[in-house]
Amino acid sequence: MTAGGDPYDVVIGGAGVAGLTLARLLGDAGRRVLVLERERAFREAFKGEVLQPRALRILDAAGLLGALRDSGALRAERFTACAPDGRPLGDLPYAGLPGRYDYMLVHGFRDIQRALARDLPSTVEVRFGTSARGLRMADDGRVTGVLVTQDGRPAEIAAALTVACDGRGSRLRREAGLPLAAERYDHEFIGFQLGGVAGLDPALSALTTRHGVVLFFPLPGDQARMYVQSRAGEFRHTARQDVPGWLDGVLASVPALRRWDRQVHAAAGTARILTIWRQRTGQWTRPGFALAGDAAHCVHPIAAQGMSGAVDDAWALAAALDDGGWLTAAAVDGALARYEAARRPRQDFVDRLSHGLASLLTGTSATARALRRHELRVIDRNERLRQILTYNMAGCGVVRFTRADRLAQAGLPDLRGRQRLRLAEEPLPAGPGFLTPPRTSAGQQ
Ligand SMILES: Cc1cc2nc3c(=O)[nH]c(=O)nc-3n(C[C@H](O)[C@H](O)[C@H](O)COP(=O)(O)OP(=O)(O)OC[C@H]3O[C@@H](n4cnc5c(N)ncnc54)[C@H](O)[C@@H]3O)c2cc1C
Repeated sequence: MTAGGDPYDVVIGGAGVAGLTLARLLGDAGRRVLVLERERAFREAFKGEVLQPRALRILDAAGLLGALRDSGALRAERFTACAPDGRPLGDLPYAGLPGRYDYMLVHGFRDIQRALARDLPSTVEVRFGTSARGLRMADDGRVTGVLVTQDGRPAEIAAALTVACDGRGSRLRREAGLPLAAERYDHEFIGFQLGGVAGLDPALSALTTRHGVVLFFPLPGDQARMYVQSRAGEFRHTARQDVPGWLDGVLASVPALRRWDRQVHAAAGTARILTIWRQRTGQWTRPGFALAGDAAHCVHPIAAQGMSGAVDDAWALAAALDDGGWLTAAAVDGALARYEAARRPRQDFVDRLSHGLASLLTGTSATARALRRHELRVIDRNERLRQILTYNMAGCGVVRFTRADRLAQAGLPDLRGRQRLRLAEEPLPAGPGFLTPPRTSAGQQ
């Protein structure tokens, strides 16, 4: 429904969580959508395994949660910071959250992509093996589509709106000239995929050691993911040649994992180095063009917020575009302004939340470790702080720490620390009109 008769209403660069969720929502609204994906097929990747309750709510309203469950996603019920021997130091239990989505879902990244791509509406086309390499621009600077290489030849694809969902290193964002602030963390995660790991707690464990954090959690099929923090560049330069020896060192510093000694060593060949970034974009849109997902914002993965942010973006953008009419330039740009205004403040909060948790759990200096012990002890004893943190992580809403909470965090006595707050689930922002009232699946998993 473009005013100018373009073949597509919306062209999306990238078939990750942001691109696929957006395609689904727009397709359900009857828009003609083309998704370009540079890979030839969905590939397994060590990133994005944990979906927070907020993402589950949105995906359920979009009719996508059933596909994730059917494909075997696991429930996880708590995020626990532990000592190296596995002793819990601070626990965020999701069971007390308001609303129906009081758990996380855990799945392999490729399985999440496949579930989101299942049963896409007939107005959505996904073209694999096609890289968006530039933007098609009108003389006035308006983005009018993308430039691609197809069958070895350059081609142009016109659309009323172009959305860059092409991830952290977004080429389309660069082509659009949108400003980016990027900081690389001083550590990276070395990811491993373990097999034959039955009977793990349905929890995300953050094992804190003097060398940093080790994240460990179950995946479907008796598998587990292990992310080991390592100083940036160190693994590549020193450990690559002797991964089993390096893993011996990990097991020596994390006794809780020794029961999985055999599985950990068997996973040596799966090692992947994952660099970690914090990125904020000063502007998410320009005429005819928007960023969504990691292309717009990238946060430390420790709080598992990246995919939720991507899903949130898709929901807000589809809602903003949903007046059901022609996508004239004015209609598109009005929608983009509403989208950016709706999403940026919340995403800024998520950015600070993720960075704060990363600072708490990944610091390796003596001061950082002492502070971590202290803060985890305070949080573990203070019901109110724990509840606020869990609520914010889950994305049920935004509750900011008050001055009194900050003082309690610093160790001052807190008379309210034993009180349970009555926190309600914040209503989801209005979604696309065709989903109002939201479609929800019957009952919890
Ligand atoms: C180690 C690690 C662990 C993580 N764990 C979690 C977690 O547990 N939970 C969570 O919520 N988040 C997690 N994240 C973050 C999460 O993976 C991202 O936030 C999320 O995948 C972003 O989705 P996206 O769709 O924006 O981008 P991506 O998933 O990066 O998808 C971008 C897509 O665009 C394609 N593409 C790129 N360039 C082009 C082009 N020029 N033309 C066409 N296609 C292109 C890519 O091939 C890709 O398919 C983790 C990240 C890391 C690094």
